[in-house]
Amino acid sequence: MELDELDYRLAKALQEDGRLTTRQIASLIKVSEPTVRSRLKKLRELGVLNIKASLDLRKIDCTAAFLTLKLKASNIQEVLKNLSSFPEVDAAYQTFGEYDLVILATAKDVKGIQRLSEKLAGLDGVEVLRVSMLLDALVERRGFSVRVGVGVKVNCFNCRKEIKSEEMIEHEGRFFCSQVCLNKYKTERET
Ligand SMILES: [Zn+2]
Repeated sequence: MELDELDYRLAKALQEDGRLTTRQIASLIKVSEPTVRSRLKKLRELGVLNIKASLDLRKIDCTAAFLTLKLKASNIQEVLKNLSSFPEVDAAYQTFGEYDLVILATAKDVKGIQRLSEKLAGLDGVEVLRVSMLLDALVERRGFSVRVGVGVKVNCFNCRKEIKSEEMIEHEGRFFCSQVCLNKYKTERET
């Protein structure tokens, strides 16, 4: 599915602050409250939008690491199934390329990460396991960032054509595909 302009505005607002009320969102993105309410309901029902609390690991005493694993092709599903039984595993991504699996794990300290990696390395089918201790999170978005052109379809306010690039221009809450279109809109409004 693709998100439209209204979905996009809603998602952006809620990614900034998940506790915004329907009324606050409505005034922020300049649409009526019932519109916001019904659209939020739709996005929740489709499972596109989930609002959860998120903890900032940097402010908690814990150690995080990325574990990259190379698996025997025949054991991939088996290993993936086992992952949820490890409480240290916060996120796991099946990858294509040199490695088959990337895991974000947290533990009390380095020893905890070491224990986890030993347990994982002992699983049937794990050929290589590398550990990268996390020093700092430089970019960390809650969920995926919503971007026009990446599963989001927005039309230019001037020419109505679909904006495909991420170089969309936002002006007074309206979206334009190019500077040319924005200029046209500005000139027409002045006359
Ligand atoms: Zn345009």
